[in-house]
Amino acid sequence: MSVLELFESMDYGPAPEAAEPALQWLAQRQPFDLFINNRRVKPTSGQYLETINPATGKVLAQVAAGNAADVEAAVAAARRAFPGWSKTPGHVRARYLYAIARHVQKHARLLAVLETLNNGKPIRETRDIDIPLVARHFYYHAGWAQLMESELAGYEPLGVVGQIIPWNFPLLMLAWKVAPALAMGNTVVLKPARYTPLTALKFAEIVEEIGLPPGVVNIVTGEAGQVGEALVRHPDVNKIAFTGSTEVGRAIRRATAGSGKRLSLELGGKSPFIVFDDADLDSVVEGVVDAIWFNQGQVCCAGSRLLVQENIAERLIAKVRVRMEKLRVGDPLDKAIDIGAIVSEAQLREINRLVERGLEEGAQLWQPSTACPREGYFFPPTLFTNVAPAMTIAQVEIFGPVLVTMTFRTPEEAVALANNTRYGLAASVWSENINLALDVAARLKAGTVWINATNLFDASCGFGGYRESGFGREGGREGLYEYLRPRWEGSGARAGRRRGLAEAPAESKAHTGNGHEGNGSNGVALAGSEVFADLAGRIPPIDRTPKLFIGGKQVRPDSGYSLPVRDPQGMIIGQVGAGNRKDIRNAVEAAHAARAWSGASAHQRAQVLFYIAENLAAREQEFALRLVQQTGRAYAEAAAEVQAAIARLFSYAAWCDKFEGTIHRPPLRGMVLAVREPVGVIGIACPDEFPLLGFLSLVAPALAMGNTLVVIPSPQAPLSATDCYQVFETSDVPAGAVNIVTGEREPLVQVLAEHEDVEAVWYFGSAEGSGRVELAAASNMKRTWVNYGRPRDWLDPLQGEGEEFLREATQVKNIWVPYGE
Ligand code: NDP
Repeated sequence: MSVLELFESMDYGPAPEAAEPALQWLAQRQPFDLFINNRRVKPTSGQYLETINPATGKVLAQVAAGNAADVEAAVAAARRAFPGWSKTPGHVRARYLYAIARHVQKHARLLAVLETLNNGKPIRETRDIDIPLVARHFYYHAGWAQLMESELAGYEPLGVVGQIIPWNFPLLMLAWKVAPALAMGNTVVLKPARYTPLTALKFAEIVEEIGLPPGVVNIVTGEAGQVGEALVRHPDVNKIAFTGSTEVGRAIRRATAGSGKRLSLELGGKSPFIVFDDADLDSVVEGVVDAIWFNQGQVCCAGSRLLVQENIAERLIAKVRVRMEKLRVGDPLDKAIDIGAIVSEAQLREINRLVERGLEEGAQLWQPSTACPREGYFFPPTLFTNVAPAMTIAQVEIFGPVLVTMTFRTPEEAVALANNTRYGLAASVWSENINLALDVAARLKAGTVWINATNLFDASCGFGGYRESGFGREGGREGLYEYLRPRWEGSGARAGRRRGLAEAPAESKAHTGNGHEGNGSNGVALAGSEVFADLAGRIPPIDRTPKLFIGGKQVRPDSGYSLPVRDPQGMIIGQVGAGNRKDIRNAVEAAHAARAWSGASAHQRAQVLFYIAENLAAREQEFALRLVQQTGRAYAEAAAEVQAAIARLFSYAAWCDKFEGTIHRPPLRGMVLAVREPVGVIGIACPDEFPLLGFLSLVAPALAMGNTLVVIPSPQAPLSATDCYQVFETSDVPAGAVNIVTGEREPLVQVLAEHEDVEAVWYFGSAEGSGRVELAAASNMKRTWVNYGRPRDWLDPLQGEGEEFLREATQVKNIWVPYGE
């Protein structure tokens, strides 16, 4: 092409990035072995898999096909390395992470080219986004390693972590997983995606270069069925961190249920990109390009649903089409290319299948007239209009460069349309009216919301989903807890005193020193006041029949049956309703109807919690006697439990307006509001130990953070919970915010765990029950918090209250608010 022709067409000339250094690097090293204990280890199978360049379909290298035996060796290496690494001072770990960050920068170009060759994404993206973010992630977490001892003093690492990553951001996902795990003192076995192992293998070299102790990072390449599944099922792995499809996430939830393995899941999405009529449409168009054509749309948080206010839809779509004509699809190593190759033939087939489905269902397809390479796996940018919300292409994650558009009229309609998906990963809101944008952001069910921006990421800002987009966060302080547990859990601290008063709070003892101190033998007869003693035996007590507490009303159980409650000697001391599946459903419905509680101000919620404490204190003696009756404990012990429960209610009343969130300052002009939001409807199965304190220790934080609850009290000692009905009724707790269904814990909690409209289940019962809850919860990926049969000492504030509870009761939404004209 002559200069004159170029001058006239103003076309881009070729701007190729040289592949030779990366190809040479590959040629010198392949076939690639596994990386275990800082050594190259031949796969037990003796087999290697080809990895290809999706832009050409040609083979790049041979990579070891690991299997279960190799996973075994890698986990053993990580286990051996764990004691040393976890005890390595934070400052020393910080130096290693810092060194990794530096080495990523030193090899930045090689890493970028390797990533582009192996994944097909444009070099512009790997060079300017993926690799710099990888370095940033290690720098940021070097900082947390340094600060861990002072800032996270009550926590310790989990142990060996299995990490499974996808192919869409191969090295970035590695960094998101490895950096926090190492910073917090864990050791790692990583499984890269089958299609994209190469940058992980270069990372192995960096691990060696910086002299990280052997076994701290192990990398096992191979296929899902061989390596991934073996890692998930390995009994000596303490945690699985997974990013990938919702379907595989669900399978992993099921496979790990009851094993005690911690789990974090970053899954799929169908994120809305909402445009109001006052938005700056030229910026919107650039935003759309970034939202859905960045990385060929193979992004879990891709803005794949363009929701436009009706009156500007035509104008915006016309502008988007003009811009699409200018997008350049082609060789990803060309620096002037916008859209590279799809990662694999299989993925390309899947995109084609879904696009066909869109056409069959009546949506209208539009693609630009520009060329799309024939060789390799390419797909042109694609726009669907005439889309109905229920169509497959509006609901299913396509994971390709395919945008669907729909229109709305009012902000309410926009929110309803945006939330009309099983996912909840991210959303963008475009409007020049910041009041409107923030109001809509607060109402979206998504872990990240970008205002007038999209696809912004930073190590300091947590990222993760709501609903079927998974649970757990990566990045930020909240991401660290995914790799930590409270120190008391691991240190063999005395947990779960069933009676436990030895260290009752001082004020409890003071309070009970009023003549009610029993001698610890047999409860009521010894404990009551003279008045009771005088009447005892002369008149029959008034029969009390606790019913269920649903929607603010005391209602009879659907079954019409009651269950006896016995004291420790086996004497019947009362009866409670035998709740069933239908009662649970009614309670869930009531909890949803009480959603306004989540919008109540923190101040208002605090008032209610203080008020519950006040009304409980007014009936302190009655509650203590009830504990004596149910547990056979001394009055003083029981009174101390009531005191501790009152103190706990005060704690959470205090936390209401203090556990709020934070502001991040990532490297951009603007800020990120990390807002703690309620999880939604939480089902809670209470422990048997400490019938009142265990119950209120779970109810109070969940309520304080704005959730509405369905609670199953201890089946052994439910009367302390049923006595609370009147306390709740007189304390301004809104109807339906707390619902209580008595009965057999296991069948009732099963209904909760299977219920599609319950967002989380907390379970404090047996080890087997914990497993069942985790398994059932996989259906809608609800969050679970279970105790694996391990009791807690609810009197001990370290075990019985605090941040852990508040974190479980909330999920973080990060709202990105760039500013400046
Ligand atoms: P997968 O979820 O299957 O793969 C993600 C990772 O998990 C890979 O390392 C994979 O290994 C591994 N894996 C797969 N099955 C298991 C298992 N049973 N046990 C343990 N590990 C397993 O995603 P795909 O690559 O198959 O992509 C399919 C769809 O998933 C895409 O079209 C897209 O919709 C979605 N997806 C979403 C991502 C996200 O970030 N949210 C990322 C990637 C995909 P291997 O590579 O060897 O198969």
